[in-house]
Amino acid sequence: MKKQGNNLEKRIDELMTLHRVSQTMNSSLNVKETLETVMDAVIEVARTDRALMYLMNEDRTRFIPTIARGNVGNIDLDFDVDPEESIFRLIVQQRLPIVVEDAANDKRVNQEHAGRLGTTSFALIPMIWKEQVVGIIGVDNAVTGRPVVDVDLDLLVTLANHAAIALSNNQMYEKTTRFNEELQQRVTEATEHLERLLEMKSHFLTVASHQLRTPTTVVKGLLSMLIEDPEMPDEERNRLIDQTYASVNRLQRIISELLTATELEDKPKMVQLEELHPGEIIDEIVKELGPLAEEKKITLLTELSAELPSIQSDRFKLYEAVANLVDNAIRYTQEGSVKVSVRQGNAAVTFRVEDTGIGIDPDEVEAIFEKFHRSEDALEIQASGTGLGLFITKGIIDTLQGEIQVDSAGRGKGSAFTIHVPVRSPRQD
Ligand code: ADP
Repeated sequence: MKKQGNNLEKRIDELMTLHRVSQTMNSSLNVKETLETVMDAVIEVARTDRALMYLMNEDRTRFIPTIARGNVGNIDLDFDVDPEESIFRLIVQQRLPIVVEDAANDKRVNQEHAGRLGTTSFALIPMIWKEQVVGIIGVDNAVTGRPVVDVDLDLLVTLANHAAIALSNNQMYEKTTRFNEELQQRVTEATEHLERLLEMKSHFLTVASHQLRTPTTVVKGLLSMLIEDPEMPDEERNRLIDQTYASVNRLQRIISELLTATELEDKPKMVQLEELHPGEIIDEIVKELGPLAEEKKITLLTELSAELPSIQSDRFKLYEAVANLVDNAIRYTQEGSVKVSVRQGNAAVTFRVEDTGIGIDPDEVEAIFEKFHRSEDALEIQASGTGLGLFITKGIIDTLQGEIQVDSAGRGKGSAFTIHVPVRSPRQD
């Protein structure tokens, strides 16, 4: 009768222990806390001297002793175990608990390992998740030396599996958290990208509407003066026509800058190579921008070194790049001259545009190539401007695999822009 009462008490104790473990698992997201509660329960129900939990590492190459309970004394837990070795291999393969009553005479036991732990009799219980051993709980009686024979294996297996579930829950939790973080990061990046695009779009629209309005109004005004006064003297008439032509050129340049800048953003940069002579480019530029220089009473000089060879390049792009520099040189010069020269090096042709204009502050030399950047001095003397010309020129020169550099002795001291482009631009597929 007494024995039955004892058994019942023991059973109730065990159920209470299991209940406690389940409660911790349900209420805690902290895997360490749960595993420790499992190990408290293990030592309580196994009634052995010691209990040790090994966890399999991520790449499944080692069992790492992680939590010890009971009379562990001063055993050094700083070791790990090969899952391919001795009795651990058996557990991984069979996924069943193993009881070793006499370690010293059991062939399955690694004696060195048993010696290190000072164990003579022990039980190992696998922690199984999705048919894989994710850890092992070992219990032994190293202090009292009693053989481990009457441990309640069923209960220990239940506890070991509770531990395995806690581990996998934790892994899933970590995975979900990581996934969530990644997702959040991507959403943030996409939002930032969209915001940048929206900001650029509104910047483009502001620049476009602002910059297109002025020359359009000027052209309209000039034309109406011409129409309204048929008796106008020829000299006056020609002056107005020249001015109209310069304004239309300006308009065309602004539109072209806006379009090219968007193209540089959107499309892969294609080049159309052809044989051309640098002199042709310079002639066209003088034709387009000569009137602007004349209107500002600025001398536009050109200097082409003798026997310049033909080159293979993209005519439109090269024109655009050099014309932007000449246009700037004229617009940012109040008086004096603009000189455009072309020289031939070994494998490159050099275009140089020098002016006696407002110059560039050394602090701004890099910024002027950024989209929409305009210096205070530039804004003051030239309200009209998109801040896109140099950005485009640099983009083109990069596409042509050339180089661009700028020299200025500072504000008010003129500037010189130099472009080197290969004589034979490499083909791009
Ligand atoms: P925009 O001329 O429309 O302002 P750019 O991209 O061509 O746009 O030039 C950017 C800025 O670089 C100009 O606003 C001006 O501050 C500076 N810059 C360009 N060329 C010259 C130059 N020749 N002399 C002085 N400053 C210049």
